[in-house]
Amino acid sequence: TVRTRFAPSPTGYLHIGGARTALFSWAYARRHGGTFILRIEDTDIERSTPEAVQAIIDGMQWLDLAHDEGPFYQMQRMYRYKEVIEQMLAAGSAYHCYMSPEELDHIREAQRARGEKPRYDGRWRPESGKALPTPPSGVQPVVRFKNPQQGAVAWDDLVKGRIEFANDELDDFIIARADGTPTYNFCVVVDDWDMRITHVIRGDDHVNNTPRQINVLKALGAEVPEYAHVSMILGDDGQKLSKRHGAVSVMQYDEDGYLPEAVINYLARLGWSHGDEEVFSREQFVQWFDLAHITPSAAQFNTEKLNWLNAHYIKAADDGRLAGEIRKRLAAQDVTVGDHPDPAQVAALYKERVATLNELADAAHPFYVATHPAAELRAQHFTEPALAALRELRGRLAAAEWQRAALSQVLKDTLAATGLKMPQVAIPLRVALLGQPQSPAIDAVLEVLGREDVLGRLDAVL
Ligand code: GLU
Repeated sequence: TVRTRFAPSPTGYLHIGGARTALFSWAYARRHGGTFILRIEDTDIERSTPEAVQAIIDGMQWLDLAHDEGPFYQMQRMYRYKEVIEQMLAAGSAYHCYMSPEELDHIREAQRARGEKPRYDGRWRPESGKALPTPPSGVQPVVRFKNPQQGAVAWDDLVKGRIEFANDELDDFIIARADGTPTYNFCVVVDDWDMRITHVIRGDDHVNNTPRQINVLKALGAEVPEYAHVSMILGDDGQKLSKRHGAVSVMQYDEDGYLPEAVINYLARLGWSHGDEEVFSREQFVQWFDLAHITPSAAQFNTEKLNWLNAHYIKAADDGRLAGEIRKRLAAQDVTVGDHPDPAQVAALYKERVATLNELADAAHPFYVATHPAAELRAQHFTEPALAALRELRGRLAAAEWQRAALSQVLKDTLAATGLKMPQVAIPLRVALLGQPQSPAIDAVLEVLGREDVLGRLDAVL
């Protein structure tokens, strides 16, 4: 059965590229009724932080990418890496190397000077019939993998096609440092083996690690998983995605007012396609997802498209859920949203007009905090005839039945009584009620705002 993993290094937040890799690994496992594993690759103790671990877990939770096993932490598996290193030393597929870093630098220097590719010269590599130097006393050796010297290592990458490396291009890489700690490439191998990973889906910045990892797996007698190396994501300017492009952390999208299902739909289409389909649910995505339709070329981020999808999902979202978002987002501005006006009704008024939840919260704001219209707006809109009409309207509203059709009739009656046209009354009314000349249908705004607030705000103007 299929077993995939997402293996982030906790050195920062969960970024968009990582989230997409996680999504693909998750979807592939779901598609095939398999298992999705979360593995935290925290062996870089200088750069790994608990905050970053939390940020990754939060980001995955927000995107609702639930793992079936884990999180496993590499730092908690040190005993296991050391155990495998001992096995390899005993089996002769790894060996101690006593060359000091200074010596190694020296050799590389000389190789460079001769125009050769710098590499370890194999001095401590045991071969039958070869005499090894005497280990210097007091030197802690590193452990190197005895990489095959003949032939090639190749795999059929599920995204990029066949990839091949000649073995003589690969050094005997270090699997344990002099202090005994295992190196990154080695931990990945042991984990993929122990966790019985069948499909490694990861960024193509790891393509160069793969031949080394495959060789170690083979030396261990392990089954080699399938590999799918996904291209990176570029910013909308075609440059490598970075902080310059605004939100690169997944949680920043939450903060900026994006719905997780919009981000999921967007990421799913970023480098993968199913015909011309653009809008689809998570469930639909899982049914369609395959590795064959991941594009081998880099995908380009497109904020406009994300906004378009977000607008779509906001429109489709339940009013009660949007009310919760209004509450949460206005609370962050110290605005308490009670039951009046009903935030679900406010959401219904605006959900077709906004691209983000922050725009929705901004639109809702004047319903909860009476904004005194700016002097400019007052001068422009509160002309004598407008004020007279608002006075007339106020009298009628005080006695009106508070229901949209009746309120619409009150407005028409006011027009008839004053001889003005709808915009001549509705625009000053909007300014008086919401502090701005635009809004959705004014009778709907009146209904949602409620009699008490409407009369109070009119009185403040009149
Ligand atoms: N820890 C690696 C990273 O964050 C991923 C390694 C892998 O997927 O094999 O880039």
